[in-house]
Amino acid sequence: MGLWKSYFEFPVIWKITIGFVLGIIVGLVVGPPVAQNVGFYVVAQIFLRFLKFIVEPLIFFTLVLGAASINPKTLGKAGASVIGIYIITSIIAASIGLGLGLAIHPGRGFALTGVKVTPPKPVNFVETALHWIPTNPFAALAQFQVIPTIVFALFVGIALAYLRISEVERIREVSEVTYKVFDAMSEVMYRIVRFVLEVAPYGVFALIAINIGKSGIALLLPYGKLIGGVYLGVALQIGIVYTSILLISRINPAKFFRGAYDAMLTAYVTRSSSGTLPVTMKVADEKLGINRGLYSFTLPLGATINMDGTAIYQTMVAVFAADVINRTLTAGEMATVVSAAVMASIGTAGVPSAGLIMLTVTLGSVGLPFAVIGIVAGIDVILDMVRTMNNVTGDLTVTTAVAKAFKLIDFNKGVWASGEKA
Ligand code: ASP
Repeated sequence: MGLWKSYFEFPVIWKITIGFVLGIIVGLVVGPPVAQNVGFYVVAQIFLRFLKFIVEPLIFFTLVLGAASINPKTLGKAGASVIGIYIITSIIAASIGLGLGLAIHPGRGFALTGVKVTPPKPVNFVETALHWIPTNPFAALAQFQVIPTIVFALFVGIALAYLRISEVERIREVSEVTYKVFDAMSEVMYRIVRFVLEVAPYGVFALIAINIGKSGIALLLPYGKLIGGVYLGVALQIGIVYTSILLISRINPAKFFRGAYDAMLTAYVTRSSSGTLPVTMKVADEKLGINRGLYSFTLPLGATINMDGTAIYQTMVAVFAADVINRTLTAGEMATVVSAAVMASIGTAGVPSAGLIMLTVTLGSVGLPFAVIGIVAGIDVILDMVRTMNNVTGDLTVTTAVAKAFKLIDFNKGVWASGEKA
């Protein structure tokens, strides 16, 4: 009994870390067979499926509640600032990837094999944007379409906000009840997230063992420069770009990263920004004290459109591809590559390896060979982990900074509460 109790009292964050470290060791020692082991597969899938099963209801209930609680003008202004900074940081990320790529030339010494890749249909931006307005909001919820769900939830929430101040008493009364129902349902969702996090240490263990096992060390060696380049790019983006944003906003980066840790680690092992959302949102709420109205809008949005890690990766692979065919990119082509990478990162879905397929956009923009996608596919797991971690960290950084600017953050909560303020 005592053991049971101390197990539950031991902080989840440590349990997850232990799972992570043990998973790396098992992955390294056992190698590829881990990836085929049914036990590991089942544990990893249970964790992933639980995360995914909570995403849509969590976004819906919290965003309706959030939009109904916050002044629509404030949400509009803060939301627009977040979107603006999301785009700026993505441009910086794409430039970092390009710059580092040119400095280290990750593809020199590679021979192009004839791997064929069928490019996906080109993205039609007008059609994509039109689909953001769901013709059937319930289908959007059911089919895991995040942006249409956000649009629907925003409308419901804002309408509810107006009804709550209606002149008709009956309407005021019923909308108050509805508001409370959404409040309760949001809490229910967070309670479920808490259960899911109890599975997390085992899920993280199994996932990292599979990821590391799959890409055995020997396979990674020839790609050392590319892997090193992408990891270094992410380190710069987090260590310099995000840290500067936090410092400019007078937020203590050490505390911020301590708060964001669970989400960063979950993103690293799940390789999915959308799958990580329940943890990202929980962290924003409980550890970073951000206003629910803001993060319930900006985090799901960020998980869909803000992918700085993916942008770094895209431009770096473009240089890799140019190296492989001994081509030197002109200045104009470099600019094209950066803008294509930003577009590609916006269009990338928050699911594992989506960025690999979106390479067609960046490579295609300056006529680089798609066969390179086949070359980098073999090591995608290792690159996808770090870029997804970067993607999620970016969403949290920008949301926290904007929350501070609009006074939508509670510094008496979570990581800020201990010791001095921010
Ligand atoms: N897996 C990444 C994410 O979910 C997207 C990518 O493949 O670059 O954020």
